[in-house]
Amino acid sequence: MKIFNTLTRKKEEFVPVQEGKAGIYVCGPTVYDFIHIGNARPMIVFDTLRRYLEFRGYDVNYVSNFTDVDDKIIKRANEQGVDSTVISEKYIEECKKDMEALNVRPATTHPQATKEIPDMIKMVQDLIDKGHAYEKNGTVYFRVRSFPEYGKLSHKNIDDLESGHRDEKHALKVSGESEKEDSLDFVLWKPMKEGEPFWESPWGKGRPGWHLECSVMSKKYIGGTLDIHAGGEDLIFPHHENEIAQSEAANDTTFANYWMHNGFLKINNEKMSKSLGNFFTVRDICKKYDPQVLRFFMLTAQYRTPLNFSDELMEVAKASLLRITNAAKSLNDVVTSDKKDGAAFDDTAKEELNSYIKKFDEAMDDDLNTADAISAIFELVKYSNTKIKEGITSEYASKLYETLKTLSDVLGLKCEVKEEILDADILALIEERTAAKKNKDFARADAIRDELLSKGIILKDTREGVKWQRV
Ligand code: AMP
Ligand code: ZN
Repeated sequence: MKIFNTLTRKKEEFVPVQEGKAGIYVCGPTVYDFIHIGNARPMIVFDTLRRYLEFRGYDVNYVSNFTDVDDKIIKRANEQGVDSTVISEKYIEECKKDMEALNVRPATTHPQATKEIPDMIKMVQDLIDKGHAYEKNGTVYFRVRSFPEYGKLSHKNIDDLESGHRDEKHALKVSGESEKEDSLDFVLWKPMKEGEPFWESPWGKGRPGWHLECSVMSKKYIGGTLDIHAGGEDLIFPHHENEIAQSEAANDTTFANYWMHNGFLKINNEKMSKSLGNFFTVRDICKKYDPQVLRFFMLTAQYRTPLNFSDELMEVAKASLLRITNAAKSLNDVVTSDKKDGAAFDDTAKEELNSYIKKFDEAMDDDLNTADAISAIFELVKYSNTKIKEGITSEYASKLYETLKTLSDVLGLKCEVKEEILDADILALIEERTAAKKNKDFARADAIRDELLSKGIILKDTREGVKWQRV
């Protein structure tokens, strides 16, 4: 597979550190509110990367953090008069609900900054000991000039950056506010302010800087050199540049081999963001559209290209997705009809089917080109519809159905046809479950609950008896 590496600005063949394994770290959201659909873009595209690598046989260790200590969280907590953990825990749970709706699989590990403080203090101390960091009045700064490769990811030159900072530096020096050795230096540890959460450290009460979190957590949960580090393109500078500086200065090893950055989700050609106020939450969009439509929409563009959000494009996505699920349904009908007449799944059919899989793989191998991968799926849909019209056996239909389902699943799209269950059958099963419970046959009762769940039926035991609903 080829990946466009921000570090080299080239598409490069993906060669993992350890054969057959992939360690991926994706910067996660700051949890102070519901996520917006711009935040959902990296979640969806890098979940798709993970799914594709697994499809190709890789054992993937996928780590994505929640930033749960931050100015915005503290501000929100103070406004509401609650502890900042009340805010962060609430929005972590809400974010996980959105992820589930979008079929974004939970990460192997979702570390939280506040739960990793001792390791953060250790990295700061290591950096001080090695001369890469210094403390001033309770703040610890990273000494950017001590890391000559600073700027290699964002392709910025230290001297240019310095001159950009010169005016600011001069102003700060004159006002006597600056305690930094150099205006480029950034914060690793900041001292506590009144009303803020804090942890004890060798430099007094305080909390870690944002960049430090990711360096520490990726090291802890993946270790060594990461295969892939990913996030939105707004994170290239300074966040990822600073992560590289901290990690490579502390660990004396390459931090990450491949850097992948998604383009922005825009609205009216402007980046969707909280601060501009031009955002829609995932929760809001999912009131109007099936979350699968949002996921499909995100994948209609290759992840590096900017993507404009609009109702028209969501309607197109909705109709396109329906074409796939309709084809799956038609195929499933042939499969379940146990049809023996019609064209058989011979070598030519096998070859034809493989050509669509090949097209799909080639698209995904080319820097995760999901737009072209979707085109390959549509070609398969068209082929399937034609073949059904011409007449095929159930075996043939089942091969097409399985392939359509597998390729859709790599993109995280569900086109599986759920077995329909009639209300009368549901009621009969509920009755059987109640009887089983009465007879203390809890295994059978649980099995019935699971069987119904697999068909999309949820049971609720209430005082008025068992209630059920379709999901
Ligand atoms: P934040 O909570 O702002 O740190 O963002 C979490 C993730 O969402 C980061 O990887 C950001 O780069 C990404 N992100 C934020 N806004 C957008 C957007 N409009 N389009 C694409 N990605 C975004
Ligand atoms: Zn990060």
